[in-house]
Amino acid sequence: MVDPAVRSVLADAVDLARAALDELGDGGVGAYLGVTREDECSATHRFASELPGYRGWQWAVVVAAAPDSDRVTVSELVLLPGPDALVAPEWVPWSERIRPGDLGPGDLLAPAPDDVRLVPGYMQSGDPEVDETALEIGLGRKQVMSLEGRLEAAQRWFDGEYGPGSEMAKAAPSSCRLCGFYLPLAGSLRAAFGVCGNEFAADGHVVHAEYGCGAHSDTSLPTGAGSPLYEAFDDSAVEVVELGSARSAPVESAQTESTPSDSTDEPAEPSPSEPEQTD
Ligand code: SF4
Repeated sequence: MVDPAVRSVLADAVDLARAALDELGDGGVGAYLGVTREDECSATHRFASELPGYRGWQWAVVVAAAPDSDRVTVSELVLLPGPDALVAPEWVPWSERIRPGDLGPGDLLAPAPDDVRLVPGYMQSGDPEVDETALEIGLGRKQVMSLEGRLEAAQRWFDGEYGPGSEMAKAAPSSCRLCGFYLPLAGSLRAAFGVCGNEFAADGHVVHAEYGCGAHSDTSLPTGAGSPLYEAFDDSAVEVVELGSARSAPVESAQTESTPSDSTDEPAEPSPSEPEQTD
């Protein structure tokens, strides 16, 4: 396909373009695909790529000629992706690719210069409690969290695993706000967030005041719960003996002494005047 806007001297330089590719020596030069105009003095001839792994790519050869000249020269050879080429996804800067949890031991992750989550420490943070007491307690930090940063964090924690909407919180007997293991945060976030100090629960995690779990300090077990004091009596492990079929056994005789009414052959129960025989 020839672009009519291409000067004929440039459009006719197909063989020159292919010869330049042959001279390049990479091979894989396929069918001619056409020429397009770059400007008055240059045009690009395209050839299909037959290189392994480059299906859909095209060889592009830029040829040039001075305005009044018939002499054509080759300016550039390059392999470019065609409309059907398999190409890598668009590059994304690492600062946009990184996700929570990617940070490992020894990794460095500096905040961006325009990170909206931070403001200089000498500026008012927007948190009245922090601003009023910052000098007193000598925070001395170069930067502190901005109002936006704190709002973002609060929203994440609220929506997260330790927020009031989690399954654990819905099934909890009471809330963290009333739990002895609840350690409230400082600043305005104290109103809704604290850290759990229970090693058997959300230990070390920021929890919402309305979160809760079964390890709440006020949890009491239902009556009868826990380990039994004695081994349970297992009916299936006991052999049931019919008393009637074992009357002649000595042990049965001993038993029947205390139940004379069951048989007329057994010795009579001692009368109240007769002393009971004892060992
Ligand atoms: S033990 Fe449970 S209820 Fe108590 S602070 Fe921790 S998560 Fe909240």
